[in-house]
Amino acid sequence: MTNIKFCRLSEEWNAKNNIYNVKGEEVSIQDKKTKSVKESIADMPTINDKNFKDLPIAWQTQIKEDRKFGVAVPYNNKYFTFRCYDEDTEVPKPVAEYIIDIAYSAWEYDLNINVKIAPEDLPDSAVDFKLYFKTTTTDKNLRGSTLAYHYYPISHQSEYKGICVINKEYFYNINGENISLGIIDPLNYRPDEKKKGRTYNLVKILRHEFGHGLLGLPHTGESGHTMSALYNHMSEDNTEFDITRGLYKVGAKKWKSVDVKNKVKKWYSTKKSKSLPDELKPLVKWN
Ligand SMILES: [Zn+2]
Repeated sequence: MTNIKFCRLSEEWNAKNNIYNVKGEEVSIQDKKTKSVKESIADMPTINDKNFKDLPIAWQTQIKEDRKFGVAVPYNNKYFTFRCYDEDTEVPKPVAEYIIDIAYSAWEYDLNINVKIAPEDLPDSAVDFKLYFKTTTTDKNLRGSTLAYHYYPISHQSEYKGICVINKEYFYNINGENISLGIIDPLNYRPDEKKKGRTYNLVKILRHEFGHGLLGLPHTGESGHTMSALYNHMSEDNTEFDITRGLYKVGAKKWKSVDVKNKVKKWYSTKKSKSLPDELKPLVKWN
């Protein structure tokens, strides 16, 4: 299992795909309301400042590489919205929405971005990020070894805009700790089964995916960060390197809203207790 990969799609992409859609057609900028990905590249904070030159050389190289990819631009030009379109057996929708929300908070705390759940009456075309749970049968881009993938920032006109797909064939919770196979595979094991099976921390996975889809950050070859390519090489939290890369994409947060502060509080209490809030616990068997 050590070679479980993320994001096969993002690995195959190159800088070109950032401003071209996946069919190789140039994306036209018809939607006058919103900025294009090209413009988002032009807007990125400068990297020739003194602070940049003080960074480790490997970081400087990575940050320059990161600039080949744009960042997502909110459809409403103010804040991003997300919508979860389905659920997994072990992660019912309200739990998925909770996990998605706190995974964004790890980036929102420091960076100049805000992400909220899409109101029910917001049309799909106006939703920035769309999250799906799929299998290798229901999604042609998923492979057995892929946990999840997210398209890099692309135009609002693209049918692939903001799509994130999570592979239902793995078992998710919020801490990645092994649990009884009776819970993971109730069809084949008794409820009191002592043998344990593998689970994956969905907060960690989504934080990584949002690095691709929201900030346009490619993988780093170094292990021990959110943006490391393999699940087992990833850090539990964003590292200074991850955040610095994000800062050179979107800049620092100017002020923190009560929403963001509350989300981060939720994230820390979830991490500390390794469990869901009381109202969500009855919805899952793993908490
Ligand atoms: Zn990835």
